[in-house]
Amino acid sequence: MAEEVKPALYIVPTPIGNMDDMTFRAIRILKSVNVIACEDTRVTGKLLFYYKINTPMISYHEHNEAQKTDFLVNEIFSGKSVALVSDAGTPLISDPGFPLVRKCREEGIDVIALPGASAFVTAISASGFPSHQFKFLGFVPNTKGRKKFMEALLQETGTLVMYESPNRVKRFLKDLNKMKEEDFKICLARELTKKFEEYIFDTIENIQTRLNDLTLKGEFVIIVDMNKK
Ligand code: SAM
Repeated sequence: MAEEVKPALYIVPTPIGNMDDMTFRAIRILKSVNVIACEDTRVTGKLLFYYKINTPMISYHEHNEAQKTDFLVNEIFSGKSVALVSDAGTPLISDPGFPLVRKCREEGIDVIALPGASAFVTAISASGFPSHQFKFLGFVPNTKGRKKFMEALLQETGTLVMYESPNRVKRFLKDLNKMKEEDFKICLARELTKKFEEYIFDTIENIQTRLNDLTLKGEFVIIVDMNKK
């Protein structure tokens, strides 16, 4: 029997590129809740149109998280059910939502998370790099803290997974190559679940010579294999 939607916060993952990567449950929850809190109503609007979902949306993004958190918590207290989605993948994974979930937990509100798409899980599962244990580092910082991040990264061992924006992937690889003491393997997982999905494998040393030939467009997950051989 289908679960009844109750006054609670539902965390609902959405596709990272392929619109068909929604679960039946995710669609049903988005159809049944009172309101969907989303990063960008235009992006989520396309998903709702595709799945013929008519639930009202409210914007919830990194710039209004603080005000909207109290509003949404009050909505749930007044008996409403709220779904949180981000533009792509799992909310809170390098995406907004943390203040809202923390507040719900503090207030004793049920938080019900649905499993679904996330770029780093997709990438690691297909990389062929050791995956029993790995460390997810989120986004590589752009300016503040970048040097510290890179230095800390080089002290790590094991499999490291991170996100980087497309226009900064080359810079990241160059910096890493300059700073490293020994060579290690890299996997660039590009445009996952989309038409031009691609996994690029090489050593950090070799990737430098290939950089100009590589298409570094689209979205990337970077995986670094620093496992001791
Ligand atoms: N919440 C999302 C998740 O669960 O994966 C991540 C959102 S974060 C703002 C966006 C970053 O995720 C991109 O810059 C990229 O590093 C990664 N990403 C998202 N979709 C991707 C895809 N289809 N292929 C490769 N990387 C992707």
